[in-house]
Amino acid sequence: MKIVFHEKYYNSEYAWDPAAAIGRLDGIMNVISENKEYEIITPNPAIEEDILRAHTKRHLQNIKNNPLLYELASLAAGGAIMAAEEGFKSNPTFAVIRPPGHHASADSCWGFCYFNNISISLLKLYSERKIKSAFVLDFDLHTGDGNINILTNRNDDFRVKILNPYSSGRTGYIKEVKSYMKNLENIDIFVASAGFDQGIDDWGHLLHPEDYTELGRLMREYSEKLCKGRRYALLEGGYNHSVLPKNVDSFCQGFK
Ligand SMILES: [Zn+2]
Repeated sequence: MKIVFHEKYYNSEYAWDPAAAIGRLDGIMNVISENKEYEIITPNPAIEEDILRAHTKRHLQNIKNNPLLYELASLAAGGAIMAAEEGFKSNPTFAVIRPPGHHASADSCWGFCYFNNISISLLKLYSERKIKSAFVLDFDLHTGDGNINILTNRNDDFRVKILNPYSSGRTGYIKEVKSYMKNLENIDIFVASAGFDQGIDDWGHLLHPEDYTELGRLMREYSEKLCKGRRYALLEGGYNHSVLPKNVDSFCQGFK
């Protein structure tokens, strides 16, 4: 399976927040690079035309006013696009990108996010008429308000279904995801807003590594049933550096 990564994502100087913390991605990439079943691919930054499908000119300019932030946020969005293009070719792909994106709306952002990576990547595929629908599984601890604001209730014919599971027990959580996926139809691609802050040893104290494997496996199973296995996932939250690598790897073992 493919892993999107760029050395510049290690740069922690773009912000002072837990997502930008020094060392947050190092452990993930150590685990990835030790395993030959992962192939690392390197993205280019998203161009303005790509970003403007999801954001206003005003928001783009706000981010551009901070050159380092713009460099890294557009490179994260470019990583998302690369993952989407691979996913569309039925190559399961996980993007280890930073900054995350699911709290970025068209004209504003918060929660350590700047550009909405998922939306930028899906809207590029939609603009190229490759897809007309998508399913987003957002298993981050926090609801991806940016994903919802940009991708639902649209004026065009792009249809996106988003699940932010809310069950409070781990068994119920997996059940909820499974029963939602069972009822999906006419979906052209699956994408995960893959935050790991719901982990048992992270902020949310809920999901075990094997639960992440099951979430990945469900993404694989239902994308294979509905859309030729087209699927990709983008890193969002996850803040305990000592367990984040294991959780990412566990998800990928089910997802691949
Ligand atoms: Zn989160």
